[in-house]
Amino acid sequence: MTKLIVGNWKMNKTSTEAAQLVQELSKIPSGVSVAICPPFTALDRCAQLLKGTPIALGAQNVYCQEKGAFTGEIAPDMLTDLGIRYVIIGHSERRSLFFETDELVNQKVKLAQQHQLIPIICVGESLEEREQNQTLMVIERQVTTALKDVTNANLVIAYEPIWAIGTGKTATPEIAQEVHHVIRQLLSKHFNDNTIHILYGGSMKPSNAAALLAQPDITGGLIGGASLVADDFLEIIRQAA
Ligand code: PEP
Repeated sequence: MTKLIVGNWKMNKTSTEAAQLVQELSKIPSGVSVAICPPFTALDRCAQLLKGTPIALGAQNVYCQEKGAFTGEIAPDMLTDLGIRYVIIGHSERRSLFFETDELVNQKVKLAQQHQLIPIICVGESLEEREQNQTLMVIERQVTTALKDVTNANLVIAYEPIWAIGTGKTATPEIAQEVHHVIRQLLSKHFNDNTIHILYGGSMKPSNAAALLAQPDITGGLIGGASLVADDFLEIIRQAA
């Protein structure tokens, strides 16, 4: 299965800086799918620059309503109008800092799909949940609730253990694979489809990407910090190709 590598730039890069980074991302090898998710304010400019390149564009969030009095939010058709293909939904930072619930994630997933956006649904346990042996229960709840009444398998799941995000601590390939395997089983049961991407996220970098991507149920990566450095991101892409 062709691997999918997605860069999540979070709240980094002005529009001008984003344009510079996009220009440094030329020479993407074939045999791998690549997307970047810059901040909203850089999406239009990046969309222009990425025309005709193999790099797809994603947004980092979307609201669960079509339009209206929702100050500060972004509607799905504002994204599709720019040619955006993916949208990250339920990132752990949105869950913890902005109180997004599994139910809100589910509403966003359904609306995004109605607008032909491909949701990248993030799930992952906290350190406390892992230490209390609740990891698989938490993942099952997050995946199951996110997919309630979802019949369209055109989506991506990202397993991002919260304790590994931005901390430099990576899940070992074995720990990640164990959770990915459970997610694969949940997806097979729900959609009867074994081709849905399940990305690993959490301090993935050139030095650990190959081992993680070699696991049977890890079909790509969601990359935060390392996607802000063109050489590092390109090296991860090469390892996935
Ligand atoms: C992320 O937040 O999606 C992420 C994986 O971040 P990092 O690679 O910096 O841990």
